[in-house]
Amino acid sequence: MLANLANVSYIGATILFILSLGGLSNPESSRRGNFYGIIGMTIAVLATVFGPRVTLAGIPWIIGAMVIGGGIGLYAARKVQMTQMPELVALMHSLVGLAAMLVGFASYIDTSIVFSGAEKAIHELEIYVGIYIGAITFSGSIIAFGKLSGKISGKPMLLPGRHVLNFIGLALVIYFAYVLLQAETPAAGALALAVMTAVGLLFGIHMVMAIGGADMPVVVSMLNSYSGWAAAATGFMLSNDLLIVVGALVGSSGAILSYIMCRAMARNFLSVIAGGFGTEGGKPAVAGAQPAGEVSPISAVETAELLKDAKSVIIVPGYGMAVAQAQHTVYEITKLLREKGVNVRFGIHPVAGRMPGHMNVLLAEAKVPYDIVMEMDELNDDFPNTDVSIVIGANDIVNPAAMDDPGSPIAGMPVLQVWKAKTSIVMKRSMASGYAGVDNPLFYKENNRMLFGDAKKMLDEVLAALKA
Ligand code: NDP
Repeated sequence: MLANLANVSYIGATILFILSLGGLSNPESSRRGNFYGIIGMTIAVLATVFGPRVTLAGIPWIIGAMVIGGGIGLYAARKVQMTQMPELVALMHSLVGLAAMLVGFASYIDTSIVFSGAEKAIHELEIYVGIYIGAITFSGSIIAFGKLSGKISGKPMLLPGRHVLNFIGLALVIYFAYVLLQAETPAAGALALAVMTAVGLLFGIHMVMAIGGADMPVVVSMLNSYSGWAAAATGFMLSNDLLIVVGALVGSSGAILSYIMCRAMARNFLSVIAGGFGTEGGKPAVAGAQPAGEVSPISAVETAELLKDAKSVIIVPGYGMAVAQAQHTVYEITKLLREKGVNVRFGIHPVAGRMPGHMNVLLAEAKVPYDIVMEMDELNDDFPNTDVSIVIGANDIVNPAAMDDPGSPIAGMPVLQVWKAKTSIVMKRSMASGYAGVDNPLFYKENNRMLFGDAKKMLDEVLAALKA
């Protein structure tokens, strides 16, 4: 009876998770999607904790762990700044990897169920693969956390003969799988698992350290995918069907996101998986590259004058808008201009900010209508017919070097061609480079103006001048 109830709940939760993913594919339905996900997860947790596989004596332990884990999660989620979100997500991915590793070792040590023959081999291989994926996810996500938070340099670290090193690692992993299957004592098996875990951890570090600055978005979505596969592997080890399904959903949607990101960056998916992609052709990014040329500054009042006279305006937000929390003022300005009959639209680059959908989330928070928020491909042809393009704290995603300089570390990445508007205005605090660490020739273009200062402060001044 209890088992049937748990199965029905699992099916219900699975449907809710699929509906949740469907909802998250569109900004308008994303709230509903999130809601489905929350309900699905609540059902899944309750069905597991009170299901047939947990004894009464185990429940206080589980509740204790949930209170501690939930408390830490709640504290972290309340304390985190919007700009630290990507690091937090990377850290969360690392926990999924750690859980897969721990569950793997616990399953191996657990002697309550004795397997024999083919079943034993399958069980051990499940554990082996689960721990391996978990180890890569764990160490790779920790390095991604370090890179996203600036604790580790964004420059790619390329070891000599790294492909050979990766190949040796893979050979060792295959060999130790054989050792595990042949092991006559649990100690010999545990040693094989430990060696493979060390190789997996090193591979995760090596893979993410080799990724150059602007290519990080693909890594973030790839680790998201890995964390899903790690969860699915944990599901196999625990014989939990729901965890397998949910892990596969996260794993495959993360893989699709990685593919979309690759396309956005014009990179090759297969070389991403091999690690260190995007670094062969161009020279590695130099953090804080030296500016080269003269720029024309503009004041907030002059910016307001240009906007007043414009018929069409395209706003391109980037990471700096998130740092300055300028989205609400951006929308105030947008409303005012639209009331005056100006055609205002937003151009969103797929890798703007520091996580997939970063800009969409901020603009939705400020209640910007979805129908004026466009993707890069929808807008790029419209810049020549645009009076003013305003770049708010964006840099790499509007860098013409990606199109004009084959030696640039971001060569080949499609960018928003803001310089094709009659006038482009770039809002940032200094001449500093963006995440990829490359200088931006946009700043020196004849029709470009620089509005230096914190984006929120400068936009407040523009808004005041527009109202005056
Ligand atoms: P960039 O990092 O290229 O540029 C952001 C700019 O914002 C900086 O040049 C900075 O200049 C400016 N800025 C920072 N704070 C403020 C502020 N308070 N007010 C005004 N300006 C400010 O961001 P983009 O969005 O253009 O590009 C995203 C980059 O991040 C890409 O290289 C992408 O590959 C990478 N990335 C993206 C991820 C994703 O999933 N979206 C994940 C990981 C990396 P200054 O200091 O002079 O003000």
